[in-house]
Amino acid sequence: MNQILNSEIKYLPGVGPKRAELLEKELNIKTFRDLMYFFPFRYIDRSKIYSISELLPTSSYVQIRGHIMQVKIMMSRGRAGGEAEGSRAAAASYGNSGRKGGGRRLVAYMRDATGTVELVFFKGISYIQKILKPDSEFIAFGKPAVFNGKITMVHPELTPPSAEILYEGSTQMGVYPSTEKLRNNGLGNKVVSKLVRTLLDKCADDLAETLPGDIIARKDLLGLRESLINIHFPVNNTLLSRAQYRLKFEELFYLQLSLLKQRNVRMRSEDGIVMKKVGPAFNKCYESLDFPLTGAQKRVIKEMRSDMCSGRQMNRLLQGDVGSGKTVVAVLLALLAVDNGYQACIMAPTEVLAQQHFSSISKLIKPAGVTVGLLTGSTKKKERDVLLEELVSGRMQILIGTHALIEDRVKFKNLGFAVIDEQHRFGVEQRGRLWNKESNETGDDSGGTGFTVGSDAPAGAESYRRLVPHVLVMTATPIPRTLAMTVFGDLDVSVLDKLPPGRKPITTVHMYDNQSGKLFDFMKGQIKQGRQIFVVYPLITESEKMDYKNLEEGYDVISEVFKAPEYVTTVVHGRQKPADKEFGMKLFASGKADIMVSTSVIEVGVDVPNASVMIIESAERFGLSQLHQLRGRVGRGSDKSYCVLVTGYKLSEEGRKRIEMMCETQDGFRLAEADMKMRGPGDMEGTAQSGLAFDLHIANLALDSSILENARHTAMHVLDSDPLLSGPASVILRRELETLRNYGKEPVDYGRIS
Ligand code: ADP
Ligand code: MG
Repeated sequence: MNQILNSEIKYLPGVGPKRAELLEKELNIKTFRDLMYFFPFRYIDRSKIYSISELLPTSSYVQIRGHIMQVKIMMSRGRAGGEAEGSRAAAASYGNSGRKGGGRRLVAYMRDATGTVELVFFKGISYIQKILKPDSEFIAFGKPAVFNGKITMVHPELTPPSAEILYEGSTQMGVYPSTEKLRNNGLGNKVVSKLVRTLLDKCADDLAETLPGDIIARKDLLGLRESLINIHFPVNNTLLSRAQYRLKFEELFYLQLSLLKQRNVRMRSEDGIVMKKVGPAFNKCYESLDFPLTGAQKRVIKEMRSDMCSGRQMNRLLQGDVGSGKTVVAVLLALLAVDNGYQACIMAPTEVLAQQHFSSISKLIKPAGVTVGLLTGSTKKKERDVLLEELVSGRMQILIGTHALIEDRVKFKNLGFAVIDEQHRFGVEQRGRLWNKESNETGDDSGGTGFTVGSDAPAGAESYRRLVPHVLVMTATPIPRTLAMTVFGDLDVSVLDKLPPGRKPITTVHMYDNQSGKLFDFMKGQIKQGRQIFVVYPLITESEKMDYKNLEEGYDVISEVFKAPEYVTTVVHGRQKPADKEFGMKLFASGKADIMVSTSVIEVGVDVPNASVMIIESAERFGLSQLHQLRGRVGRGSDKSYCVLVTGYKLSEEGRKRIEMMCETQDGFRLAEADMKMRGPGDMEGTAQSGLAFDLHIANLALDSSILENARHTAMHVLDSDPLLSGPASVILRRELETLRNYGKEPVDYGRIS
């Protein structure tokens, strides 16, 4: 159905091969459907005709109606007068080679009852000359400007007053996204608008509705045909907003439906391992903790325990601000798996973090008497072989590591629980590799690198059922709810919403980089009080030489100001050998070094309670979430903590806003929301919109959260009565999901690991 929309765009009357090529190249429009769903980003009211005397240089696009009095071709030679300058500037702004053509321009004087205006053209002069006969009447549509004190309109759109408006009943004209190249090649807004008109004439009446009738009725949505007509050629504002609502709702609805359905599929085709027992490993570790768990930690553990006993696979996202104590939660659950005869693994995004986890977790679980190993990219072959052997045999009960863990050769005897820490640090690609091992409806394993569950998983594993490990994804990047719902829509979410007691607020200040004297004095004062200090330099890509240069120079300056042996400064970055890195980290973590200069490798996870000052150099180069993460490295002990954001004097407006936000609040969720609004969801660190199953044409995750909420409820409601969309009532839904899937990208389910 709606097959016609799959036609190639070159077959639309008025397009042809040349324009088709341009449309594809510039706007990625390849089919009728692409054009149909290519929406204006704003609208211009064309019901009003202004009188020429009303025109102001500040007016936006307006239309006037008048008679052509006189048409002149003028040459602006060289740098002659101010007028020539002005015209050249205007010509240049039209991307036109005003200079090449000797600065030829056509000026037409248009008059109405109230005055006269100059219409100026730099291009297509001979064509314009032909149509602008003296005394002919036209409607000119454009933006007024001033040259030499006179009101002009440069390259207005001209239509004879008798010409029909683009769509009956529509008074507003859509403005479509465009490019210089399109405009220069005869594919300006008016032409695109005309093509859309042609398309609607051709297809609109035959389009099959893409939402089920009962949803349309219940939600009081505009029909598809009305919506598409009104989004392109709004009849009035009410219909325009209803059209926008409907189209946004539809996009978000299908996004949610696809995610939630996949979750249902999984719950049916795979059994989760039942882990009922609470045994000695869990208990011994729990009893020897040197702090009571917070209420939030207890609640979250309870939520996950019940998942792990449910007979269904757990897929949970644990969100908790930096320092909220996620590690201990993950460890206790891993011990639960051990108590039930399974292995567990914890995967960290960086080598440094994996090592830190290994040492702190080893300490934490010592009382439990459980075997724990570390596997990273730099694990020596000999060691690795022993480790892999111990994993297969089951002697190794908990494995900690980097993504070296997901290599094919890593085989567990019976993995029951997998933790992915600081998930946002994994790029979309890596996540894809991790989760792509997709179970589709037939339960067939489409390959990819995933965890391998050993063949001798305990009883109950019928041959066609897969027993899959429980999965816990942890992140300290607060993901705004809307994004969490869309990108991780099929994960259950737990939130650690309380920090352990005794944390003090962190004072955040902004300093310019020429205030280093003041900064160094402050640092000395802190060190005198026994505190330790982080100094972080941005490292945008691992290979960027400049970044290392900054770091090295910074380190040199600091070593000069903070001379040994009075002060000890250490440096840690990604280019060091793992042993050197570890040495540097240990020096600092053990309290022997006062200052640690590093790249953002310490962004996640590192835990040094005595460090109470975080200095971030070139802070304007970091995103909000990253700044927040870095700041979270301090304020863990009982001392007053500080974060100093150092920037140059020259700051972009956004950069300044980010710094201001940081100084203003410590609320991770507020910062994440602000980040998303400022940068758009597509740019959220590591949670790129490209992780979505379908492209969004009109809905905006940052702005349309209430529509998303509504769409999600509707999708849940639908799935309540038909969990796999297999019933006869779900024909439209199945068909649309199929269309969207084939049409857009293949849906990638990032919420999967097994
Ligand atoms: P994150 O959530 O950022 O991973 P961590 O798990 O690294 O946080 O915990 C941060 C610090 O808080 C660690 O030193 C940890 O021992 C400590 N911690 C965790 N839970 C508690 C608690 N309930 N009470 C006191 N300290 C805690
Ligand atoms: Mg952590």
